[in-house]
Amino acid sequence: MDIRIDLKRLQADIEALAKFGRDPRGGISRPSFSQADFEAQAWLKERICEAGLCYRRDGAGNTFGRLGGDGRAVLVGSHIDTVINGGAFDGALGVLAGLECLRRIKEIGRSPAKPLELVSFTDEEGNLVGDFLGSRAFAGLLNKEEIEKGGTSFGRPLKDILAGTEFSPETILAAHKERPEFEAYLELHIEQGATLETEDVPIGVVERIAGKTDRQCSFVGKADHGGTTPLELRQDAFLATADFALKGTQLVATKHYGSMITVGKVTVQPGSFSVVPGKVDFTLDVRSASGETLETLDRELQALAEDIASTRGVSFHSRIIDRTVPVSLSGRIIGVIEEECRRIGYPSMRITSGAGHDAQIISGLAEAGMIFIPCRDGISHAPDEMISWEDLDKGANLLLQTLVRLAG
Ligand SMILES: [Zn+2]
Repeated sequence: MDIRIDLKRLQADIEALAKFGRDPRGGISRPSFSQADFEAQAWLKERICEAGLCYRRDGAGNTFGRLGGDGRAVLVGSHIDTVINGGAFDGALGVLAGLECLRRIKEIGRSPAKPLELVSFTDEEGNLVGDFLGSRAFAGLLNKEEIEKGGTSFGRPLKDILAGTEFSPETILAAHKERPEFEAYLELHIEQGATLETEDVPIGVVERIAGKTDRQCSFVGKADHGGTTPLELRQDAFLATADFALKGTQLVATKHYGSMITVGKVTVQPGSFSVVPGKVDFTLDVRSASGETLETLDRELQALAEDIASTRGVSFHSRIIDRTVPVSLSGRIIGVIEEECRRIGYPSMRITSGAGHDAQIISGLAEAGMIFIPCRDGISHAPDEMISWEDLDKGANLLLQTLVRLAG
């Protein structure tokens, strides 16, 4: 009979970790290198050591727990940082389910042919200097300038946040030198969308992770009196933005269905009751599972914005602030996950992740695979983030069986 995870123990771990960084607004605020994160890390260290795994933290704050000796390892994990006022499952699930798997394998005295290593990556959520700080440090993909000079979403530079800790821009930049040799990475995560729930399927096998292009954009027109400037003479930056958001969405929906466009943050200036908006700054987030489509869309949206700008007598400006390419996860690992699903009797479906994950960074180094379980109403990054424990039982047991297969 298959070994199984201890669901009660995993549930207790998830509930215990959720106590660190409680936000008065009802969720959890646990950005990496915050007080709450250091407390959560100390708790995680105890769990890793208690389980008899070999604990280690690298210069970027990535935490490891190893089972087994030398050799190329199979990694399993995710992240324990959260967005501000986020939920208890995004990331935490992957780390704690990974911990439970290694703990069970150790408890029953099984020794896999390959070492297994738990990993919890730093700042997956990008509260500090862009998404995936820990996994990018692990992969050696960080830019020196961004780490040494980069501001954070907390208004303080990263090096000030790190002051007084054992970490610094230098240790972060050097973290990839401590990277263990490994040949595969597995991550269990909530879907962060409603496809699995809608289809009533407990397991998503991630085939691709969408790439994105994030731009900071502005339309610049002219601030005029709202009572005296005739409509046809206005250079209204807000109308240009509204026009762009609508036409851009129509373009994606009709020509590139399945890709995504979001104008998420809009600042209108001067932002006054009776003044024609002279300037609008807005963010543009475009995502697609196809690299070609992503490039085409970026070009088409820029052309659309220029077109709207000339029609409305305003100017358009934009710059890229973040960009990731879509990635395909390992066909071999997808195959193993699906075989295990069939063998155990869990319904599964292939899925594309519209959200970013550490797995997309790690897939550049080794074979990577991801398992999704449903989250209630597709909600994530919010206090209402919720899962069913029954789905977690399936996801974590599938993770365990897949790990056992990959580690031999
Ligand atoms: Zn996550």
